[in-house]
Amino acid sequence: MSTTNTERPSVGADLRRLEDHLVGPVIRPGDAGYDDARAVWNGSIDRQPSAIVRCQQRSDIRHGLAFAVEHELPLAIRGGGHSVAGFGTCDDGLVLDLRAMSTVEVDPGQRLAVAGPGTIGAEFDRVTQEHGLATTLGVMSTTGIAGLTLGGGIGWLQRALGLTCDNLVAAEMLTADGRLVRASQHEHPELFWGLRGGGGNFGIVTSFEYRLHPVGPEVLCGLVVWPAEKASEVLRLFREFTDDLEEELTAIAICRTAPPAPFLPEALHGRPIVALAVCYAGAVEDGEAAVAPLRRFDDPAGDVIAARSYTDFQAMFDASWTPGLQNYWKAEYLSDLDDDFIDTLARYAVSHTSPLSDFKIAAMGGAVARVDETDTAYPHRAAPYVLNINTRWEDPAETEHHLRHTRALFEDAKPASAGGVYVNFLGDEGTERIEHAYGGGDTFARLRALKGQWDPNNVFRVNHNIPPS
Ligand SMILES: Cc1cc2nc3c(=O)[nH]c(=O)nc-3n(C[C@H](O)[C@H](O)[C@H](O)COP(=O)(O)OP(=O)(O)OC[C@H]3O[C@@H](n4cnc5c(N)ncnc54)[C@H](O)[C@@H]3O)c2cc1C
Repeated sequence: MSTTNTERPSVGADLRRLEDHLVGPVIRPGDAGYDDARAVWNGSIDRQPSAIVRCQQRSDIRHGLAFAVEHELPLAIRGGGHSVAGFGTCDDGLVLDLRAMSTVEVDPGQRLAVAGPGTIGAEFDRVTQEHGLATTLGVMSTTGIAGLTLGGGIGWLQRALGLTCDNLVAAEMLTADGRLVRASQHEHPELFWGLRGGGGNFGIVTSFEYRLHPVGPEVLCGLVVWPAEKASEVLRLFREFTDDLEEELTAIAICRTAPPAPFLPEALHGRPIVALAVCYAGAVEDGEAAVAPLRRFDDPAGDVIAARSYTDFQAMFDASWTPGLQNYWKAEYLSDLDDDFIDTLARYAVSHTSPLSDFKIAAMGGAVARVDETDTAYPHRAAPYVLNINTRWEDPAETEHHLRHTRALFEDAKPASAGGVYVNFLGDEGTERIEHAYGGGDTFARLRALKGQWDPNNVFRVNHNIPPS
């Protein structure tokens, strides 16, 4: 990465004045650490902000926000920096990096946790699991809870406990004009509705309060693996298995290249595989019975389903998701896994263009589907599956090749589409896709009205943007 950007002259002097009000540092082009500070998880994103404020406390956010508004600068809010579209940074604007604000406080009696906006999954789980409690977070441990929650929050506990946003009890938010408001079922309920699925469109959330549930400390979880040549049969098994799934069980089918993992035969290392990964959010012995059909299917090449700590499981896939690589993702909710579509997927399961890529199908339903479509701004309650194509590679020169392959798979998946996309898996794909992500129709109109009420000047536009109405 190069540092060719220069500060806007009109902003430069004022930035130094802003610094006087801040506890956290301001990092500018030319400063040591600028390239690290502007980088986000997706290495394909290469943006040059005018400054990055490493916020330490709420007053830093407030000052940074006022500064961006006064100078009409693009403003990027960064929690964990995992937005694949790169919304944790921007060109020629201000980045408020909240990662240092990662406090987690648990009230075990009330089964509630309050977390700062820079918290990542691993930190949240570590503290809540000390009390044998958890709430749904993602399927790996380094994703920021902020973006995850505001877009929905798909994870290993979702079918038992609902999405992350379904477990949000309240949020404190700074508005574009610097007011601190609290949103919950009883305080600004319409804003609370919008924060559960509408992304960071309405303001900067400075704390998240979640409902917790008894989970673990050990859960039955892990994966069963077959060579990808068996993908057709294994994906049919997945369809049947997920057709009538216990709510405690969350299951994901993964097609990828085998890592050199000791639990897999050496001959399979570097070869395409299909895996079914599960997490049972109930008693371990009940889980054993529930996952038995997967383990006895057609002589698996590897089986690492076991009772293990929930926090270990959350980190089990982290090594496959290191930051800094090139990434191109496409995603869609699916209405069905019919035979033709499974055969299509099976063809792609043996033809990845990169050993770092995968595609996954997660079973939705359960507690996710029990929430009414209009209760939160996350509208895709009825979709039984979500497809996520995660193409990853190292050499930027190969980009076109990987994009072509990903788009071909995505096109071939269209007949199975349920007509929407999960906002947190969406890349920079234009306004129509954004509308689909927010449910279109009445949901989108309601979100636009809410945006008009809380952010009429669209200060918060570095995101999957909802235009104010
Ligand atoms: C490796 C990887 C694994 C993932 N796994 C899952 C998964 O299992 N389940 C799932 O549902 N999603 C998953 N995602 C998608 C993830 O939920 C989104 O990328 C999410 O936006 C990440 O949140 P973040 O805080 O890390 O991102 P950031 O890039 O920091 O922010 C994302 C968006 O949220 C906004 N935002 C961040 N903080 C705030 C705040 N405090 N107030 C207002 N707006 C804010 C930003 O402006 C931006 O638009 C994954 C992504 C990656 C890269």
